[in-house]
Amino acid sequence: MQGSSDGSDLWNLTLQHSPIGMALVAPDGRLLRVNPAMGDMLGYDAEQLAQGGFQEITHPNDLAGDLAMVQRCLDGDIDSFRLRKRYLHRDGHVVWGDLSAALVRGTDGRPLHFISQILDVTEAEEQRARLTSTNAELERERQALEAIFETVGVGLLLIGRDGRYERMNRRHHETMRQPFPDGHDGVAGQLGHVYRLDGQTLMTRDEMPSYRAAQGEEFDDYAYWVGDDPLTRSAYSTSARQVRSASGEKLGAALAYQDITDLMRAMQVKDEFVSSVSHELRTPLTSVLGYLEIIGGREDLPADVAAQLRVVRRNASRLETLVSDLLHVGELGEGQLPLHRDAVDLAALVRHAVEAARALAANADVTLELDAPEHLGALLDEQRVRQVVDNLLSNAVKYSRPGGSVHVTLRRVEETVELEVRDTGIGIAPAEAAQVFERFFRGGEALQNQIPGTGLGLNIVSSIVAAHGGEVTLDSEVGRGSTFRVTLPHRDG
Ligand code: ADP
Repeated sequence: MQGSSDGSDLWNLTLQHSPIGMALVAPDGRLLRVNPAMGDMLGYDAEQLAQGGFQEITHPNDLAGDLAMVQRCLDGDIDSFRLRKRYLHRDGHVVWGDLSAALVRGTDGRPLHFISQILDVTEAEEQRARLTSTNAELERERQALEAIFETVGVGLLLIGRDGRYERMNRRHHETMRQPFPDGHDGVAGQLGHVYRLDGQTLMTRDEMPSYRAAQGEEFDDYAYWVGDDPLTRSAYSTSARQVRSASGEKLGAALAYQDITDLMRAMQVKDEFVSSVSHELRTPLTSVLGYLEIIGGREDLPADVAAQLRVVRRNASRLETLVSDLLHVGELGEGQLPLHRDAVDLAALVRHAVEAARALAANADVTLELDAPEHLGALLDEQRVRQVVDNLLSNAVKYSRPGGSVHVTLRRVEETVELEVRDTGIGIAPAEAAQVFERFFRGGEALQNQIPGTGLGLNIVSSIVAAHGGEVTLDSEVGRGSTFRVTLPHRDG
């Protein structure tokens, strides 16, 4: 070392106590002196290190870069350099160092040695590597989501907290023209050619799916028609979910629009088919039943023929019930059921229905009881309400076991009338209870035991009750029985 002994002591002290790795390196790379911080950094004693060159403690992949800088200094291109490079710890692991090196030349310009300082930046480097890999992962995920967003066969829309459209996929963009031929200004709730399922009533702002979602609602399978022209319009089923940050803060809403036009058109075709077939069947059937009536009235028929005719008549009437059920379903499918309200004695109506069901009940060994007031005047569609009572009664008997009982109760409860049909039959499983009012639904037990039916009766019942402004509820337990309760608003007849 050059300089005074004072200077040299000071230099030694600095070297000894610096928290930064320091070394004096010969032009050929030999480590002339190394401070303890550098030894610690690489897992050696300072003396051990001073026996080798920097090449041995440098990661092979970073050696060439380091040597090139050293050479440029020796060539006089530069005096010093800074380099982030990897060192090898004694136990083999990588230590990242931020190296600053300066070449000291003698008075004659000859290179004497490098003064090198090495800051351990392993932690920062590892963090940077982790960040880079996390970023790459996020980017991959983003790309995958982006691909899904654009390729799914469902329209997707993201609405911001303020109700503005933030993003939509191509699919949704393309389908916006039909409801909004004059363009959309990107705010939830804009009105357009959007119709309720009846295909006639335009939706109000409160009914628009985007507006509902922007107001914080979540829903599934919200179906409606879009487009002005009934022949070319499309049907959509829409679902909405609220989007929240990890801390629960509301960010907006996401909507998915599924095109269900084909399904809706197929359902329309099915309804039209059912309705036209049942119309076609009714006329000849009426004639068959009429003639059966006439022939059945003859006194001169041999006993066996009379018995066979009764079988024919029973089956023809079943067919008639089926056809009229189908006709009703067709009518119900066309929207609001028209009612012909009259002043009716509901108590008498129910009594007659119970009397008519007695034969059926006796056949099935089921007792039938009625609990009703003498009179109960009401304003309702007599024929339709009779259909409700008949359907509930025939189900109660049909789904009872021999020895069972059916109890019918009619009463006024404040501003309503309540009709209850309670049986001790097979009951309905909770999973099926919600479905029994659906068109063509038949319970598992009914199918298994081949109990005849079409799955239309309860659908008709609920439509008629709804048209009267009432409701029908079900209480049931498998193996114990079922109670159907019809509540109608009471309008005096
Ligand atoms: P159907 O009786 O022709 O099958 P419904 O629409 O009247 O059609 O009834 C639908 C289904 O509901 C039936 O298939 C049956 O599984 C169930 N159900 C209806 N009424 C009863 C009842 N009283 N007890 C048990 N199950 C019933």
